[in-house]
Amino acid sequence: SKPSYKWRRVLLKVSGEALAGDQTQNIDPKVTMAIARDVAFVTRLGIEVAVVVGGGNIFRGSSWTGSSGLDRSSADYIGMLATVMNAIFLQATMESIGIPTRVQTAFRMSEVAEPYIRRRAVRHLEKGRVVIFAAGTGNPFFTTDTAAALRCAEINAEVVLKATNVDGVYDDDPRRNPNASLLDTLTYQDVTSRDLSVMDMTAITLCQENNIPVVVFNLFEPGNISKAIMGEKVGTLIGG
Ligand code: UDP
Repeated sequence: SKPSYKWRRVLLKVSGEALAGDQTQNIDPKVTMAIARDVAFVTRLGIEVAVVVGGGNIFRGSSWTGSSGLDRSSADYIGMLATVMNAIFLQATMESIGIPTRVQTAFRMSEVAEPYIRRRAVRHLEKGRVVIFAAGTGNPFFTTDTAAALRCAEINAEVVLKATNVDGVYDDDPRRNPNASLLDTLTYQDVTSRDLSVMDMTAITLCQENNIPVVVFNLFEPGNISKAIMGEKVGTLIGG
């Protein structure tokens, strides 16, 4: 019989910033390859993996609002398109090492990727394919963290695994306070009341309302993605 792992189906959130690595380019292929290798490893164990990609390495809507007369919605659509670029890059990398992967976009770009269809996404996962959700929620004024929480709830994934460039959630900003300590576990309440910058409020409350645990962990620690997906203790666990 198959060994059992803590999670059967996970939602991995990869921010755009993480994809940039330490490169001056928008995307560091070493990072996408490291993600692909870890995901390949766990899918072969039978764990189903869905991914939501951010776009902040290319374009973040909120930081453009006001400049050049750009309204928020237009800026956010550009941001959503940026996530599609990352998704296609990640898909190509995964397929280059033999992981069957589908990209589904929140708004139609049917020459490029499938449109988001919940039942089809679930079917892909059941067949062992990785599904990358792109274009966020498809709506301006939202974030890809909210898209991660939303898709996680929709496809009945058990956890949001948020890959970042820090080890987890600290009780203070570790860049300013050298005595800041890494927190093992947190409640949703802690995150919202102490205004810890884990996810935006929309994303964290969506997780809370649907009892979706969130693990925040460092993507740049080798092997961490597969550890997080297999349910080993990494970073900070938010729940309860
Ligand atoms: N975005 C949006 N709606 C969504 C998700 C994303 O409008 O549902 C836009 C928004 O402008 C955002 C950009 O896409 O700044 C990139 O996404 P995000 O900032 O969440 O990426 P990350 O921080 O994960 O790199």
